[in-house]
Amino acid sequence: MNARHEEFDAVIVGARCAGAATAMLMARAGLRVLVVDRTHPRRDTLSTHALMRAGVLQLSRWGLLQRVVAAGTPPVTATTFHYGGHTETLQLTEPLYAPRRTVLDTALLSAAQEAGAQARFGVDVTELCRDRTGRVTGVVARVRGGDRVTFRAPLTIGADGLRSTVARLAGAPTVRRGAAASALLYGYWPSPSASQYDWFYRPGVSAGIIPTNDGQVCIWAGLPSDRFADERGRSGLADLFTRVLAEAAPEAAALVARTERTGALRGFPGVPGYLRRATGPGWALVGDAGYFKDPLTAHGISDALRDAEFLTRAVVDGGQDALAEYERTRDRLSLPLLDVAESIAAYRWNLGEIRELLLAESAAMKPEVAALRALDTPVPAEAA
Ligand SMILES: Cc1cc2nc3c(=O)[nH]c(=O)nc-3n(C[C@H](O)[C@H](O)[C@H](O)COP(=O)(O)OP(=O)(O)OC[C@H]3O[C@@H](n4cnc5c(N)ncnc54)[C@H](O)[C@@H]3O)c2cc1C
Repeated sequence: MNARHEEFDAVIVGARCAGAATAMLMARAGLRVLVVDRTHPRRDTLSTHALMRAGVLQLSRWGLLQRVVAAGTPPVTATTFHYGGHTETLQLTEPLYAPRRTVLDTALLSAAQEAGAQARFGVDVTELCRDRTGRVTGVVARVRGGDRVTFRAPLTIGADGLRSTVARLAGAPTVRRGAAASALLYGYWPSPSASQYDWFYRPGVSAGIIPTNDGQVCIWAGLPSDRFADERGRSGLADLFTRVLAEAAPEAAALVARTERTGALRGFPGVPGYLRRATGPGWALVGDAGYFKDPLTAHGISDALRDAEFLTRAVVDGGQDALAEYERTRDRLSLPLLDVAESIAAYRWNLGEIRELLLAESAAMKPEVAALRALDTPVPAEAA
């Protein structure tokens, strides 16, 4: 085989949760899969990584939850909602998890490689190949060192995140565009006994505590994007974080004040949500490449794992109509969540209204969990 021109059944651009999960499922189904990424999933990425029920369910169905737990990811056994001074705690019948992305994405990638998927890193996809009819037939990439390489496949999958190159080059139309965007600032602090998600809401601000690996909690503070843009330059990230956290969650601010942060504070200025067409001739999108909603919903990873499954099923079933069905399923399950995310991210709610919005968000997640629970095993299960 010519090293500069290789052929596969599917080429996947992006090797994090959407791409690695898709590669794993397609390889388990017997397809020759190549997944490429310009970086490596062992490098951390911007995310507070709380999984919702659908995400945990997928890891469990795929035989990967044990790996995530064995990596020291603590179980989350309750969720407490703080509406100003009023709290409501929900005990969970089955635990949730919030693995660091270095843990989750590498577990998915290892499983993909064990199933036979090829993975290449330092590979930056810059062009799509097309046949005479305009159908996408693969990608052209720049590899480390400057060489160009072509990977051909009947299906090219964009799992390349928010600024998807595949979506742009394929001309994937945006079918729904949000207007609201919220900003998040977050970091990690030691708190080895933490075992619940805490979500805090006060008018104009929000915050959260998320137990994760290494005996740490991820603490985030949320605010409208325009306030972030206005105050970040004047006061810097650390002061802004302290100020917003104190406004939203005095309990979390106290924890932050008495312990030392591990690593840097990270900031996300906010991006309005969107839904793009998920498929076209020779191409498909999974994860953020096709659908992004405000991170206040803490649901992007769960969606990516869901998309990976429905897309793989469509490809294994075969035919462009199967891909269209993938898109219809994704849209049916995503649009209600996108709408509620838009209202939450706008920060135009009072405490009664945010409670109603969160209940609506929870209701919007239920059909997705039901749809995933209803699936039989789509691909050979991981060998025990
Ligand atoms: C601040 C913040 C907090 C969040 N918190 C949560 C949360 O608590 N829970 C949750 O579920 N979701 C959360 N999300 C959303 C979640 O992080 C995303 O939905 C998720 O990362 C999407 O995964 P993905 O695999 O689609 O894309 P990504 O994780 O963005 O991965 C895309 C990959 O594609 C690669 N790539 C891009 N372009 C190219 C190219 N041209 N060639 C080769 N490789 C390329 C990139 O290097 C990257 O590795 C949060 C997001 C943000 C911004």
